[in-house]
Amino acid sequence: MAECPRFDTHEVFNQSPPYENVDLFLSDVALQEAVKTNGAVAEVPALAAFGRQWGTAEMFALARRANENPPKLHAFDGKGFRSDRVEFHPAYHQFMRESIAAALHASTWTGQGRRAPAPAEVTRAARFYMAAQVETGHLCPITMTRAALAALAAAPALAAKVVPKALSRNYDPLFRPWRDKSGMTLGMGMTEKQGGTDVRANTTVATPDGDAYTVTGHKWFLSAPMCDAFLVLAQAPGGLTCFLLPRFRDDGAVNGLRLQRLKDKLGNRSNASSEVEFADAFAWRVGEEGAGIRTILQMVQLTRLDCAVASAGLMRMALAQAVHHCRHRRVFGKALCDQPMMRAVLADMALDVEAAVALVFRLARALDRAEEDPVEAAYARIMTPATKYWICKLAPGFVFEAMECLGGNGYVEDSPLPRLYREAPVNAIWEGSGNVMGLDVLRALKQDGDAERLFSRLQTTPAFDGAGLDVADEASARTTMGKLALAASFAALNESAPTAVSETFRKTRLESRHGALYGTAELGPSATDMLLRRALPEC
Ligand SMILES: Cc1cc2nc3c(=O)[nH]c(=O)nc-3n(C[C@H](O)[C@H](O)[C@H](O)COP(=O)(O)OP(=O)(O)OC[C@H]3O[C@@H](n4cnc5c(N)ncnc54)[C@H](O)[C@@H]3O)c2cc1C
Repeated sequence: MAECPRFDTHEVFNQSPPYENVDLFLSDVALQEAVKTNGAVAEVPALAAFGRQWGTAEMFALARRANENPPKLHAFDGKGFRSDRVEFHPAYHQFMRESIAAALHASTWTGQGRRAPAPAEVTRAARFYMAAQVETGHLCPITMTRAALAALAAAPALAAKVVPKALSRNYDPLFRPWRDKSGMTLGMGMTEKQGGTDVRANTTVATPDGDAYTVTGHKWFLSAPMCDAFLVLAQAPGGLTCFLLPRFRDDGAVNGLRLQRLKDKLGNRSNASSEVEFADAFAWRVGEEGAGIRTILQMVQLTRLDCAVASAGLMRMALAQAVHHCRHRRVFGKALCDQPMMRAVLADMALDVEAAVALVFRLARALDRAEEDPVEAAYARIMTPATKYWICKLAPGFVFEAMECLGGNGYVEDSPLPRLYREAPVNAIWEGSGNVMGLDVLRALKQDGDAERLFSRLQTTPAFDGAGLDVADEASARTTMGKLALAASFAALNESAPTAVSETFRKTRLESRHGALYGTAELGPSATDMLLRRALPEC
């Protein structure tokens, strides 16, 4: 570590060097194992190049700038005309350019808008996980664009025009009709003031108008409002229906989207989330009238996977920062990472990252194979909500513990920990909050025979203590999801991680109940050493 005695009164020493210019792929043993186990071994060189690029000091600095300079709404221009545009910092645009060039918004689709062959999901998940470690705000429009194509399949003629533009690897931020652009992004508007979970309560109305519809109403949350078009739900004569609502009408005039306000958010600062009114807005129908929920649910499974992958990424970055700091910081004559209690905390945390990584990549593999294998489809059906619930709920407490490992430095904005901490809760809230995931798991278990059989198999693992669970009991759905996540994490670790890791997980997470706080698992010295060695290869 370079010590810089720049003060007259004292020398600065015993501070950890910045965690930057790291290879986000090669420094992450669990990620490499999960990628290889889940069918993407041929992608390793490309993923390593991505990991090197995203781990540079420049990318970390860009991420800081994108979040220190949040987007600004220009509802009106200087003459009082409506403008309804959002201005983003150049750093945000740079991330959009990088992620779109790397096809994070597109690589799981073929040019015809069909699912790309395996291991497209696993490979993309690896990139998404690394990108989330650096800057998560811009991933909101990235994830929505890739997921929206699943819903657009319900309108093949419209999809034939939109998909090629949405798959473009050019980021084109200009405010003009998507047909005239070299690339486009897609957003999603479901949540209204009176209800986000219960979208049947939507009051926004869509009136048929020739081949299209006129939409009138509002959305209480509409993120990334500079997307070129949005999948929205509105009440058509035949019931709640999905629409594609572009920023410009088909005749080239600006469409009736009135951006009222940007949300003043806890985190996710680089990304804009707006409140919007639709004033006689032009829109195309996607799917049948009345089939709105079914249509838009096609995209939600994909965004839920991304929430879990991003949360695993946040946990990984928090862990890496903590281990790195503790290796360099000395307290009472020893490096922090040699203090027994700190070792217990870090190793306990590292085990949860191992499990989160194994689980999200196992889930990505299920999505890769779901079309041809009903058992994999059933896995994806129940494990997407259970994984989203579990990992997104773990992340905030995890990041807090990592922050504490850095002491006071972890609490101040010079460190990335405050940003990771503010970011962590949103993945649990949007795309279906925790309880909604529980309802979804119960629904799948009631309706899908393959899912029920898979569930019965998982129930024989120690996670369930042999206890049968009543899938009709909503009140215990969180318990069911927690056990499912633990059982599936163990199974995933068994496949992708060394036996020492999966056995440590079994002993400390399945056979004995893990305490609410990190540092309480009885890992023992050899498992602790092994987990810390794997957590970060340096030293
Ligand atoms: C930063 C941010 C950006 C967002 N961007 C978008 C966007 O782009 N597009 C969009 O459409 N939405 C967006 N949302 C909205 C988000 O998806 C909703 O906030 C979320 O779906 C919850 O809806 P709600 O806020 O209306 O809460 P409610 O639906 O009122 O739910 C409140 C709580 O009740 C729980 N709950 C609901 N039903 C039940 C039940 N039957 N049993 C037990 N518990 C239940 C929920 O889990 C939740 O915890 C965004 C939210 C945030 C925070």
